[in-house]
Amino acid sequence: MKPKIVVLSAPSGGGKTTIAKAAQDRYPDRFGFSVSATTRRPRVGEQDGEAYYFLSRDAFQKRAKMGDFLEHAEYAGELYGTLKSEVEKVLQSGRHVLLDIEVEGARQVRAKYPDQHSVLIFILPSDPRVLLERLLNRKSESPAEIKQRLDRAKYELRQATAFDRWIRNDDLDQAVEDVVKAEEEGGAFRRTLPQDLNWLKDYGSKLQVEAQRVYDELHQQKG
Ligand code: ADP
Ligand code: 5GP
Repeated sequence: MKPKIVVLSAPSGGGKTTIAKAAQDRYPDRFGFSVSATTRRPRVGEQDGEAYYFLSRDAFQKRAKMGDFLEHAEYAGELYGTLKSEVEKVLQSGRHVLLDIEVEGARQVRAKYPDQHSVLIFILPSDPRVLLERLLNRKSESPAEIKQRLDRAKYELRQATAFDRWIRNDDLDQAVEDVVKAEEEGGAFRRTLPQDLNWLKDYGSKLQVEAQRVYDELHQQKG
């Protein structure tokens, strides 16, 4: 088994962090996780070196200049990057490395690890209302941050066609098994069909309607 890079991307609240953790817990000999660096502040309970390496903007930019990142991107005004050292550590242990990263980073990974060296997976709950509920229930972002993330979701949905596999995160166990299957089958297999495009478009529109409803409610509460 040649270890691969397994990229998990999703709009915020899609479940990539939860799935990555569950996959590692269930298959510790098969999957390792690359801890990213970020300039965003830690959420309650997030430990430095576990959830992320939390860096100042200056420190992040210095490391970027030194070529320490496999990829890096800006998301919601903060910098995020995959450290080459983290990826190497997992690959050298003979395990596939899970990256929980946004779509621009996924694109950069594919350029460096083409074809069978990486698998790009896009994750979504089947129902956009569930995505929104999960994001709101996580209670880790302010209303302004939620809005920023949902605005970004529209763009992210449009990038889904560049991914090898789409996985529905309805049932967590099933989603983990689907990640295992995607890794076994390898990258660059999915063809985008017209019905996929329609499904995505419909998903984006429904998400927008639901998001608007949430903003209106938040606005009323404020007013
Ligand atoms: P992301 O990392 O993509 O932003 P998270 O992994 O933080 O998303 O998931 C968002 C929220 O949804 C979290 O509170 C998580 O516990 C919950 N969640 C994720 N997957 C499932 C699932 N399959 N069933 C129920 N809740 C889930
Ligand atoms: P969060 O702030 O919710 O932890 O993450 C915000 C976004 O940044 C998510 O889409 C997450 O996948 C992405 N992200 C986390 N680490 C990295 C990284 O190393 N590189 C890139 N490009 N995105 C990342």
